[in-house]
Amino acid sequence: MADNQQGSHPPIMHGHGQAKFCLNCGQELAEREIDGAMRPACEDCGYVHYTDPKVAVGVLIGDEQGRVLLMQRAHHPRKDLWSYPSGFVDAGEKVEDAAIRETQEEAGVTVELDGLLGLHSETGNRVILVVYRGHIVEGEPRPGEESLAVDYFDADNLPDLAFDRDRRIIQDWHKRFVASPAPN
Ligand SMILES: [Zn+2]
Repeated sequence: MADNQQGSHPPIMHGHGQAKFCLNCGQELAEREIDGAMRPACEDCGYVHYTDPKVAVGVLIGDEQGRVLLMQRAHHPRKDLWSYPSGFVDAGEKVEDAAIRETQEEAGVTVELDGLLGLHSETGNRVILVVYRGHIVEGEPRPGEESLAVDYFDADNLPDLAFDRDRRIIQDWHKRFVASPAPN
């Protein structure tokens, strides 16, 4: 995972992205109710800071036995726990390209995407997670800079995962595309 944007896998970004100072005039911002929510606003120039959602991507890659490719995190937070390739989409970057880029960076393989698996969001979390299915077209999985290990796991025998909702996402993938493959 590219750790360049606030340091970690998307789902733990609750509450970040707040501005303290006016981007327009530099004055300290004060919380005010605007459009039905408390938002940092400038009393001098009227600037209001709206926190935008962030888009993250993840890719589920299966092997011939229907196991899923996971990586063990090398850094805190959630060091030693496992997750699939994922990271943030850069502004202006095509979402599919971000999925391919993150998989290359984190697992050392080039993938082709096989379709959208799901889109996940939750109240109070500014991150929207887009998950694709993919298959490897080049390379052998190997740990990138941010992984200790990469390995394939059975969906019903997963290691300790970094993020709770990943278990549901992986089991959903397994049920729909491995246990009883959808007709294409
Ligand atoms: Zn201002």
